[in-house]
Amino acid sequence: MSPNHHDVLCVGLDVLLPGPDRKRTAKAYHYHLAYRRGDAEQPGCLMLWEVHGGRSAYQIALERREQGVLRIHCTCADAIYRGEEPGHRCKHVEGFLEASRMLPPAGVSLRASA
Ligand SMILES: [Zn+2]
Repeated sequence: MSPNHHDVLCVGLDVLLPGPDRKRTAKAYHYHLAYRRGDAEQPGCLMLWEVHGGRSAYQIALERREQGVLRIHCTCADAIYRGEEPGHRCKHVEGFLEASRMLPPAGVSLRASA
């Protein structure tokens, strides 16, 4: 990350997910932005998020393919073993995307209230 950028940037996110225990008790997982490339249009890795709170730490990578398609990967066992199944997403990616959907889409005008 360049030290001289002045854009507002989200570098951390806490999301409640089913925990790693057998009862899947809801637990706060922390997502930490570890890497972000300035140029988001070129193919390659755009962002790397570290996920803490599970049995071990995982990494989520957002990657742009040659054709411009965005792909998201997680390093957890669930994503590795079942990631190629159509429509399957591990809970880390699912929770991450779900959290980002909580915000209004770009273009919605929000006014700060007094
Ligand atoms: Zn995962």
